[in-house]
Amino acid sequence: MKIGFIGLGNMGSPMACNLLKAGHELIVFDLSEIALTHLKQSGAKVARSITEVAQTSNLDTIITMLPASQHVRSVYLGNDGILATVAKDVLLIDCSTIDPHTARDVAKASEQHGNPMLDAPVSGGTGGAEAGTLTFMVGGQEQWFNVAKPLLSDMGKNIVHCGDSGNGQVAKVANNMLLGISMIATAEAMSLGVSLGVDPKVLAGIINTSSGRCWSSEIYNPFPGVVETAPAGRAYSGGFGVDLMLKDLGLATEAAKQAQQPVVLGAMAQQLYQLFSNQGYGKLDFSAIINLHKK
Ligand code: NAD
Repeated sequence: MKIGFIGLGNMGSPMACNLLKAGHELIVFDLSEIALTHLKQSGAKVARSITEVAQTSNLDTIITMLPASQHVRSVYLGNDGILATVAKDVLLIDCSTIDPHTARDVAKASEQHGNPMLDAPVSGGTGGAEAGTLTFMVGGQEQWFNVAKPLLSDMGKNIVHCGDSGNGQVAKVANNMLLGISMIATAEAMSLGVSLGVDPKVLAGIINTSSGRCWSSEIYNPFPGVVETAPAGRAYSGGFGVDLMLKDLGLATEAAKQAQQPVVLGAMAQQLYQLFSNQGYGKLDFSAIINLHKK
């Protein structure tokens, strides 16, 4: 396929490289020269603007992987944005994590312009992006999901249709809200057990074969030395940053407000990550939140 790709950051760059490896033709754009040079060396054609990507002839699809809602709005709806020049029928796929409301607005504008659109946020982090093992949570019409699925499979291994436009984002924020909460709960339980005298590995072993078990306790345990491969074992470097978790919890609580749906623990988790970020730990892996429990 002939694919436009806009947003070549930590996630977008390896995703675009996997599309090249799968044999697709890519025309790419990013504000960063370094990102463009890297993709050029990997075999992509470099564009100098969003317009140049959107105007490429015989384009099948455009994929975007941008930081946040405001970037998605401007890249699609701005005066020099995608919809200003893209040919009708080109399939638009936004993989950024943004609020469901913006995803639905942009999809509506795209469809009015004659372009089908899918929201397809991912989970799996930069490791999953590099390995091509991401999970894609996709919102939009099933007909277009079926068209996109083989393409998304070149970048991921779980491609799930979640329903109408915006539902991919809904699934993503619900999952990440639960992850944020479960990490704090795991940190609290581990800290309690250890401060009362139980060995952290023994305690984790009990939890992980009992009813308290969850991803945060088993795969990503926040207590140093329990899971060798977890960020806790390397001073909480790498992994999924506190500020990225904070962004996702902000999306969840904002979406909850619009739906008048109480998210009591989600809101509390957001406040705790905010507090921790304000103390200067925004770049650490989110499991470092256990340090808030230090006596
Ligand atoms: P990033 O900041 O590394 O990359 C974003 C890229 O978009 C940058 O290279 C930036 O230059 C580019 N960009 C911004 N505005 C642009 C514009 N107007 N035109 C062209 N390029 C523009 O972010 P990332 O870590 O790659 O994350 C991208 C998205 O994926 C975010 O929504 C994030 O929440 C989500 N996500 C990230 C992770 C992760 O572990 N990093 C995991 C899952 C989901």
